[in-house]
This record gives sequence, C-alpha cells and structure tokens, in this order.
Amino acid sequence: MDRQEDVVKVVKQWIVHPGRPAKLGKRDPGATPGCPSKAQAVEELPGMLEELRALQYRLFAENRRTVLVVLQAMDAAGKDGLVRGVFSGLNPQGCTVTSFKAPSPEELHHDFLWRIHKAVPPHGEIGVFNRSHYEDVLVVRVHDLVPREVWKARYDQINAFENLLAANGVTLVKIYLHISREEQKKRLLERLDNPERNWKFSEADLAERKYWNDYEAAYEAALGRCSTPAAPWHVIPADHKWYRNWAVAHLLLRTLRDMKLTYPAPRGDVATLKRKLRAMK
Ligand code: AMP
Ligand code: MG
Repeated sequence: MDRQEDVVKVVKQWIVHPGRPAKLGKRDPGATPGCPSKAQAVEELPGMLEELRALQYRLFAENRRTVLVVLQAMDAAGKDGLVRGVFSGLNPQGCTVTSFKAPSPEELHHDFLWRIHKAVPPHGEIGVFNRSHYEDVLVVRVHDLVPREVWKARYDQINAFENLLAANGVTLVKIYLHISREEQKKRLLERLDNPERNWKFSEADLAERKYWNDYEAAYEAALGRCSTPAAPWHVIPADHKWYRNWAVAHLLLRTLRDMKLTYPAPRGDVATLKRKLRAMK
C-alpha cells in the first residue's frame, strides 16, 4: 500500500467518530500505528516540520483562517513536551500558545468560555491551547467545583461554541494525549529522580493521580459528547514520546494540506509595478 494512503488510515484510527463513544479503555496508549520505530520518527520529523513551516507561511499570507489546536491530557502525558518538540518548530510570529490554569477571580465572574474566546488567535495564525474549556467538564466535574446541572449543560454549550468558531474560519484540531496509568507513574517518578525536573512535581500531582478513574470517565464523556463533524477529537497514543510528536506533526500536516491554502492575488499588475519601481530613483 502507498505510504500516503497508509497515513490517511492512521488518522482515521485516531478520530473519535461523532456520535460514538471514545472507548478509551480499548485504545492502546503504547500503540504506534503508521510509525513503528523511533528511528523512523526521528528521520521523518524534520521534513514534516519544514513542510509545516511552509504551510504556516501560506496561512499567514492568506490571512482568512485560523488553526486552533486544543491539547488535553492527564498529568505528565506530555503536553509541554509536545509544544517543545513540534510547535517550537513554527514561526513564533504566527503561533501563540496559551496555557489555561485554574481561573482567576475575575475569570470566575464570567461565563466559562469568556477567557477561552478571548484567547482564540486572529486569522492567519495558529493557536495552541495547553488545556482549555474542556477543563470545565473535567477537573470541574471530578472535584464538584460547580453543581452537576451546571457542568452537564456545558457539553452542548461547548459544541455550540466550537460550531460558531468553525463557521467563522477557525479549524479546530482537538488532541487527547493518551497515556497509561503505569507510564504516568514512571514519568512522575522521573520528575522526582531528576533534580532539574523536581519543580514539575507537587503534592497535588499525587492527589490527582488518586482520581485517575474519575478523570478517565470524565474524558470518556467529554470526548464522546464533544466530537462533532465540525470539530472531532483525536486520541493520540502517547506512551512513546517520539510517536506522540510524529503523530501530532502528521495530523497538523494533513489538516493544513486539506485546507488548500492559497496566496492572495497580488494587489495590482506585477509587471507594471516592477516597471514603475525600476523607473524610480
Ligand atoms: P499545569 O497544566 O500543570 O500548569 O496545571 C494547571 C492546573 O490548572 C491543572 O491542575 C488544571 O486542572 C487547572 N485548571 C485549568 N483550567 C481549570 C478550570 N477551568 N477550573 C479549575 N482548574 C483548572
Ligand atoms: Mg502539571
């Protein structure tokens, strides 16, 4: 089979089909479809990043559409590593990363989408959300931070919001980095073993790990209910960091290629402009 077709098939495997359950329990976090070895990932990534930069330039030139990458995952699943490994390869002039923390008092005095909508970048740019509005049906649900009726209503509100974005030139790429419980433990232990990574660990990480099953149920619901034709979810196996980076680079490439980005028409007749410029002092 042609490699190109292979990759299309792989992307299909990652998608949570709208209207169907995500079935996270049946998806292997250690799988590596489409890229079986680290050597292959390491060899292919630079070329993929090169093409991504070229497509980003077109997106910027076209200046009519936005790409918004939404990253969600359990702790230590590699959201920060992914941003370093893939998005740092883009032109910083057209790429913004927003990390959403627990809402400030001001943010809490608005609806939950207020801070999110403000952070959506303008046309021509790529935005990355490191955590997002989905926290409002994840951590909020797991810890009962608002009454049940309030978070339950949010799935539909999120779908309506994302439909609005999609209808207004925003291409959403929603990514769940799927790691196993064992891999999380290994990575948290690494943070404790390495003095340069100790700062990344807190008592809160231990506390959150106890809620693994609740988070898994909350993710299952969020991915199942909010995977829509306009903005589907992708589950990326993330136990292997090299696979995670390769997979996300591939998904972005496919997305940007499918957008059929074009340069705007020149403003004026190029030959005439050239002649005039040459005739100037
Ligand atoms: P980190 O990504 O490790 O910097 O942690 C950010 C923290 O902010 C996580 O514990 C998130 O669960 C929390 N957080 C993000 N958004 C929300 C939200 N809407 N409500 C409550 N906590 C949130
Ligand atoms: Mg953290």
